[in-house]
Amino acid sequence: MDMTDRRQFVTALAGLPLAHSALSPSAPDVSAAPSRPIQAAKPHIVVVGAGAFGGWTALSLLRAGARVTLLDAYGAGNSRASSGGETRVIRGVYNGKATYIDMVARALVLWKEAESRWQRRFYHRTGALWMFEGSDDAFARTSVAPMKARGLPLRELALAEAARLYPQVRFDGVRTAWLEQDAGFLLARASCEAVREAVVREGGDYRVAQVRPVASPGGRMARVGLSSGGTLSADTFVFACGPWMGRLFPQVIGDRVRATRQEVFFFGPPAGSTQWDDPQFPCWVNFGEHLMYGIPGNERRGFKVADDTPGSIVDPDTLDRVVTPASLSAARALLKRRFPGLAAAPVVETRVCQYESSTDGDFIVDRHPTLENVFLLGGGSGHGFKMGPAFGEHAAAVVQGRVPVLPMFALKRLANPSAAPTTRKA
Ligand SMILES: Cc1cc2nc3c(=O)[nH]c(=O)nc-3n(C[C@H](O)[C@H](O)[C@H](O)COP(=O)(O)OP(=O)(O)OC[C@H]3O[C@@H](n4cnc5c(N)ncnc54)[C@H](O)[C@@H]3O)c2cc1C
Repeated sequence: MDMTDRRQFVTALAGLPLAHSALSPSAPDVSAAPSRPIQAAKPHIVVVGAGAFGGWTALSLLRAGARVTLLDAYGAGNSRASSGGETRVIRGVYNGKATYIDMVARALVLWKEAESRWQRRFYHRTGALWMFEGSDDAFARTSVAPMKARGLPLRELALAEAARLYPQVRFDGVRTAWLEQDAGFLLARASCEAVREAVVREGGDYRVAQVRPVASPGGRMARVGLSSGGTLSADTFVFACGPWMGRLFPQVIGDRVRATRQEVFFFGPPAGSTQWDDPQFPCWVNFGEHLMYGIPGNERRGFKVADDTPGSIVDPDTLDRVVTPASLSAARALLKRRFPGLAAAPVVETRVCQYESSTDGDFIVDRHPTLENVFLLGGGSGHGFKMGPAFGEHAAAVVQGRVPVLPMFALKRLANPSAAPTTRKA
């Protein structure tokens, strides 16, 4: 991953043509006039979607010298978005995939930088306990060397040591265990909102509106339609609409990104107990018949348990977010087997979210194939949140022509739209 340093980024930006479009002051185009004279010559970039991908991309574009308007139909980190909910895991174990391990290392630096700049805490370094029930632990083992090269520690734990460190866990059936010290969890919706606030504070424009791409002859998009009325014109349009991407671009994306139902349970530990909470317990991943994972109790919320297997295809607008008995049984069965102290713990909260899974589980950061000023970002596939700041930095560099599109994030690799959606197990 060619992560651009900010100085080079701004220098390169200075060399780009400043094709600022004339903004019609008359209705129905509702493009705001630049709020400061210094912004008048800047290219205007509209970013649609204020989730982890769109929000951080908007902020990076702004810091790299663009004039940015960020729009979201329901608001940053809303309950329908894939970035909604309270927490997400950050981990560097990535099946040995160097691009993602690079991105995680960079994201960790940028999360910490954001925390220090905004005086807020998003990253909780709990560590992650990886447990493999089968003999194949390549997902962790192949990550050791690339993680080490990027300063991310990962070590195999003898099962006796694992049992001593985590007496809460029953390791029956676990063949190998690994400890990733710098893994942890991030505050999800809180950080989306903090990014949105930073966009506004640093001179960007933010509006709640549903955006409709407008048919654009001539190889460029001139404007988009807004649910609030009128249209918005700009030089460049970036769509980061998570699980909505297939619907917004049925020809170009369509089933290449599918919104799949994912159910999350929070179990309540016994009164007076802190052994299942941050910092006493780590994030954990259990590779068994299904990949199950979870986050220790935090913010007085319960012990989180979820199944990574992509569920049925859903509509993120109209989905009733009520969990199913089958998912609850699967979560409880894992508790009984792996975390017996919580076997009878009550469900204290639930969430139904959706992954926005690409057919190979990799992200999309690419230019629209026929509209040269439109960029499409997405395919987080159940593992994109942690990358937010590094993803935004990379996506902004692609949008501004500073780095080429990476083949693994290119649209054309997703040739077979009928392939089943894949997630982090990829
Ligand atoms: C249950 C669950 C657990 C996960 N666990 C992890 C994890 O542990 N670690 C991790 O790194 N990742 C995890 N992920 C994945 C991660 O959360 C997503 O990859 C990431 O949040 C995707 O962000 P996004 O910005 O692409 O999409 P979204 O967050 O969905 O943002 C898209 C935004 O676009 C807006 N929008 C859509 N259409 C329009 C329109 N027409 N006009 C205007 N706005 C529009 C929406 O309102 C939304 O806010 C998980 C996801 C889920 C659902």
